[in-house]
Amino acid sequence: MPADYHSHTPLCRHALGDPEAYVDAALAAGLTEYGISDHAPQVPEPFDDWRMLEADLPEYFRWIERARGHAAGRIPIRAGLECDWLAGSEAWIAALAARHAWDYLIGSVHYLGDWDFDNPKWLGRWAESDVAAVWTHYWQTYARMAESGLFDILGHPDLVKKFAHVPPGDLARYYEPAVDAIAASGCVIELNTAGWHKPCAEAYPAAGFLELACSAGVPLVISSDAHAPGEVGRDFARAIGLAKAAGYRETQLFEKRRRRSEPL
Ligand code: ZN
Ligand code: FE
Ligand code: FE
Ligand code: ZN
Repeated sequence: MPADYHSHTPLCRHALGDPEAYVDAALAAGLTEYGISDHAPQVPEPFDDWRMLEADLPEYFRWIERARGHAAGRIPIRAGLECDWLAGSEAWIAALAARHAWDYLIGSVHYLGDWDFDNPKWLGRWAESDVAAVWTHYWQTYARMAESGLFDILGHPDLVKKFAHVPPGDLARYYEPAVDAIAASGCVIELNTAGWHKPCAEAYPAAGFLELACSAGVPLVISSDAHAPGEVGRDFARAIGLAKAAGYRETQLFEKRRRRSEPL
């Protein structure tokens, strides 16, 4: 099985389980490597209620060391963060990048302006939104994130569909400019299996996006976005099938922000 680099810890206040249980799940799933990428601190604090605080970073590093101790050489444990791409956050992300010898940083778009649109708390805001306008804003923001050059992996590419708000017609008009920006950036995207368990009932990204990304030469990792040990490596066989159907033949490994490929 490929590596699973997108996973969380209880420090973000909405994930469960201790490091030993996550590592045991990674071993049971037969993963090549396991990576921890909890929701990064964001300033000004408190920014919201679903991430670690800057003061939690030392405990986060201890959590990762506990995972490494339990793995005891049986599986490489990689250290990352899932950072939020927000207007004006470039200097903060650069500062976070310098805080540790990270193996990779994931960039995610969870916010459009002041709205964390994937938060079920604010579903009412979706009800009063123009879905096509939200999609346009989302994909422009995603392309800017790729162009920032701050991230190794770009998270859940079409998260905007989470609650099944999708504009009518061929979605390639949204995908194509974003795929062009991602390909030019050299970033890796993830095929995130969590979407299969959300109202959209599809992996992030959709097959159509994955095909365009593969044709454009955008490299891929497969991720579970686990918020509990039982979710580590979830649906990876199904994800490998989807990636291969889109044309992918390899996946990526990261160490100290350097990448190499391995056959899928
Ligand atoms: Zn989360
Ligand atoms: Fe996320
Ligand atoms: Fe996540
Ligand atoms: Zn995520």
